[in-house]
Amino acid sequence: MKSFFYVLIFSVSLVFTGCTHKDKPVSWAIVIHGGAGTILRGNMTPEKEQQYRQKLNEALDTGAAILEKGGNGLDAVEATIHVMENSPLFNAGKGAVFTHDGHNEMDAAVMSGSDLNAGAVAGVGDIKNPISAARAVMEKSEHVLLSGKGASEFARLQGLEMVDSSYFFTERRWKSLQRAINAEKHGTVGCVVLDSHGNLYAGTSTGGMTNKKFGRIGDSPIIGAGTYANNHTCALSATGHGEFFIRYTVTHDISALMEYRHLSLQKAAGEVVMKKLVNAGGAGGIIGVDKNGNVAMVFNTPGMYRGYRKAGGENHIAIYKDEK
Ligand code: ASP
Repeated sequence: MKSFFYVLIFSVSLVFTGCTHKDKPVSWAIVIHGGAGTILRGNMTPEKEQQYRQKLNEALDTGAAILEKGGNGLDAVEATIHVMENSPLFNAGKGAVFTHDGHNEMDAAVMSGSDLNAGAVAGVGDIKNPISAARAVMEKSEHVLLSGKGASEFARLQGLEMVDSSYFFTERRWKSLQRAINAEKHGTVGCVVLDSHGNLYAGTSTGGMTNKKFGRIGDSPIIGAGTYANNHTCALSATGHGEFFIRYTVTHDISALMEYRHLSLQKAAGEVVMKKLVNAGGAGGIIGVDKNGNVAMVFNTPGMYRGYRKAGGENHIAIYKDEK
């Protein structure tokens, strides 16, 4: 069933999808995603689409307000992701999908491009905003990745907001588990920024994949797979079938192509997402920003919730692959 789903995705989406916005260097830029997958106009009501566009705009506005004031890029990433984590629309935080056993097990990561510092949590079910726990791991622990009960214990000690697991119950995700339909498998939110101090940051937060089993952990909290930032190259956040993103170390591979082969962000992302991943059967996409504020949003699925804004510019929001 799973492989049928991915074959289906690829059969309808082998066309290159993505965009570059290569202008003169800007002082700051922010890019977000709210997940890639089988997002088709035919499956969307106008009201639902409106809700997604509104939330993506709100998320961008939140991060942009911080960057505009010369704020720290990590604060922008965290605040932007909070907006999406607190919305039931996205598969992260409040809207996290269910595991096979009917639980919510979330993963999240952040990375700072100036010092390659990183923090992540995996398989957590009672932290309201997993992205903040990832940040706390980066800034307040000597580790990079904490999981399960230990991660929750750490978050509690850090004074983060803890919630009863019932907080994450949403009718829509519950039904999607019951139907166990593959079309609902994808989600994840991400944010990457260049701040006005020239630093790059990446953050990703997810409920993982619907119906996942046995404590499965995806690519989002794995540095170099679903999340990566390096001031010498770019900041990246991925969404898609995590097993492929781990095996192909997708975000680090894109950064490495920029570092060693001097490809542009757009070319490097195209190489990995539209060639390597497509050949392997790995559905999904990435958002990225480089040190000059060039933005890339590249995906091999029919759609990806996405948006960006640069200093002095306005919000650009898109969902389907035929949108700019
Ligand atoms: N990449 C996430 C995971 O595999 C899911 C997604 O982005 O849809 O856990």
